[in-house]
Amino acid sequence: MKTTACTHALWIQVATTALLKRLTIGALIGLLVPVAGTLTYCLQEGPLTLHAILQTQVHVTALWYADLAPLLSAYGWLVASTAPEASSSLRSSDLLRIIAAITSIPILLLIFATVETRVAMQKITDVELVYSIRADAAMLASNAGQAPAARTATLGRIGVSVRALEARDRVGTAQIAPAWKAFNDAWAAGVPADSRVTARFLTRALDCEGALKRRLHDLQFQAAIILVMGTFGLIVFLIKCYKIVMHLRLVEERIAWQNNELETRNTQLEEQKDELRGREEELSMTADSLSDVNQLLQQASHRFEELFQSLPVACFCFDASGRIFEWNRTSETQYGLTTDQAFQRTLWDAVGLPEDAERVQEITRRVFEGEVIEGVEWTHVRADGSLCNILCSMFPLRGAEGEVAGAISANVDITDLTRAQEHLRDSEERFRSAIHSMQEGLLLIDREHTVRLSNHAAERIFGTDGATLVGRQAEELNWKFVGEDGADMSLEQWPASISLNSGIAQHEVVTGLQRPGGLIWLSTNCAPLFHTGDPEPYSVVVTVTDITQRKQYEKKLKEQMVMLNDAHAKLEMQQAELLEANARLRALATLDGLTGLKNHRSFQERLDLEQQRAARYNIPLSLIFLDVDKFKTYNDTYGHPAGDEVLKTVARTLQNEARVTDFVARYGGEEFAIILTNTDYAGSLVVAERFRAAIETACWKERLVTASFGVTTMLPARQTAASLISEADKALYWSKQHGRNRVAHLLDLSISDSPLEEVSSEPRRAA
Ligand code: GH3
Ligand code: MG
Ligand code: MG
Repeated sequence: MKTTACTHALWIQVATTALLKRLTIGALIGLLVPVAGTLTYCLQEGPLTLHAILQTQVHVTALWYADLAPLLSAYGWLVASTAPEASSSLRSSDLLRIIAAITSIPILLLIFATVETRVAMQKITDVELVYSIRADAAMLASNAGQAPAARTATLGRIGVSVRALEARDRVGTAQIAPAWKAFNDAWAAGVPADSRVTARFLTRALDCEGALKRRLHDLQFQAAIILVMGTFGLIVFLIKCYKIVMHLRLVEERIAWQNNELETRNTQLEEQKDELRGREEELSMTADSLSDVNQLLQQASHRFEELFQSLPVACFCFDASGRIFEWNRTSETQYGLTTDQAFQRTLWDAVGLPEDAERVQEITRRVFEGEVIEGVEWTHVRADGSLCNILCSMFPLRGAEGEVAGAISANVDITDLTRAQEHLRDSEERFRSAIHSMQEGLLLIDREHTVRLSNHAAERIFGTDGATLVGRQAEELNWKFVGEDGADMSLEQWPASISLNSGIAQHEVVTGLQRPGGLIWLSTNCAPLFHTGDPEPYSVVVTVTDITQRKQYEKKLKEQMVMLNDAHAKLEMQQAELLEANARLRALATLDGLTGLKNHRSFQERLDLEQQRAARYNIPLSLIFLDVDKFKTYNDTYGHPAGDEVLKTVARTLQNEARVTDFVARYGGEEFAIILTNTDYAGSLVVAERFRAAIETACWKERLVTASFGVTTMLPARQTAASLISEADKALYWSKQHGRNRVAHLLDLSISDSPLEEVSSEPRRAA
């Protein structure tokens, strides 16, 4: 019902707005029609009557307001058709009905305009009829002499037109009908004598035509205005219809969206209801369990009491004034006081020293302010007067509201522990002094590379900024190590890191450490430390010795060794050169410079040797002497250089012909000597002859070159080297004397037993 009332109110508002708009537009039209009339008057030929203008305005305005009736009837119909229990929302079909009602007016206007036009068309026909009447009458009057038959036909035509006008019963017909009767009567009998009858008829016809024409103009004007208004209204209404439809769609979409929203809200409400139901169930379960908890709490309180009493630590509870109200069994044992003896005594009176009373009160106050005091050391007095060291912790005990209702003190007797700690401190001190007095640097480094311990020497070696190393990380200290080869070494390559990562000890590893003052060299030992059962070391003990000086000595030594090696190599080279020079010198001393054969001195030495060997082993030994024939003249003829070439050729020839065991030497000048080892008389002759022939047949440039040969063979253990030379020379002399280019053996000369000068017969040529 409420929704329907709202809909009614809405529609009343809509109708009122429409009415107001219509009134406004109606007033505008009231202004528009005279203006349009004046314009039409100006444009048209004929006059426009005020009557026509007023009539048009009345028509248009009446029609304009006429749609109020259908509009209101549409509204009534809508209200009637919308029952309270029916849908309260505005339906599009309803709106379309209203729109149809509103648009009916422009359509009515258009229909009216059409009717007006049709009437105007009839008026034109009327005007044409009157015009034809006037024309025929004028023609009749002007043509008085025409045949009676033609006159009768013309009168008949005029009569038909007049009757047609009468049948139409139009404006002005009444004026023309009496005049026609008189005119017809006058002209039926012939040409009338009284021309006034004709003139009156023509005047009446002209008046009738004028009246019809004015009426036609009025109708045309009305039709035009109504047509324009109707078209305009139709367009406006169509636009409005379109807007209403669009608005309706929007409204419908919004309504659908609101419906969806409502559904979602409903779903949420349902869920919340379910949740509330769940909570209610939970609450009832919680209420059930609360009673159980109460029971448990009582049991817990009893257990706590038991626990408190049987705690292995001396515990007692006290109030804000420090008075003890709970005292457990361990307290009785520890302090020698029963619960009754301790009850309601203050802490500082029951167990404290008098001088600590103030401090105890201060701490008590703090605990009752809610603070937890942990690990405070006290000296307490036992009942027998002996003192003990206590490690005490105090906690506030809170009531149900969270307020501090009391405090509990837990007291551990650490008398023995304190003594042990003092011992430990002493031994630590000794240990510290020992490690600080070490010459070697010592570091204890954990797995995170943090220095846990260091001695003075280590601080001296590794410290860079004077601050202690303990507690600092190797990465933070920015140590820069180098290997023995001088290459940079990462922290991971440092022996301590290797030992920590591998668990293997490192011995005497030499590393360099870059310090602001320069590089120092360290010999490092690392020993990893393990927890029992853990294969990975937890720390490493690093000892380092500064070996920079030793390294410097080693470096110097190495440099000196290198220098020594260089000197040694040079010496060896010089020695080799010397040996080579000696060998060259020795060769020069034993060889002949021109021919390359052994020289005179070598020959002498070799001859001595071979003579002794032959004498010792009783083997034959022969000696050949040869002298180039007529060499002086060769020199004189061809020059010394050519002579030298001859000597070289002779030497080469002898060397080529000699056996391996033969010893060829230049004895001097153009004389050569050949020692033939293990060669007897016959052999010596054969060899000498071969030499001779070879020289003779050699390829000589200028002229034939020959040589004379003197040979001797040593008899065992009888001759000296000198006597051999002398004998060979003697035989050579004989050859010279006997024609040259021949071989003479001393034995052959001896046989003949004649002085050389006396030898006349031809010497025997060796076979
Ligand atoms: P004969 O047949 O009697 O031996 O006559 P000959 O001319 O060979 O003897 P002589 O002793 O008169 O001359 C030896 C010459 O040998 C003299 C010397 O100029 C020459 N002679 C010695 N040694 C060399 C040398 O090394 N080179 C040259 N080109 N000539 C030399
Ligand atoms: Mg000579
Ligand atoms: Mg000679």
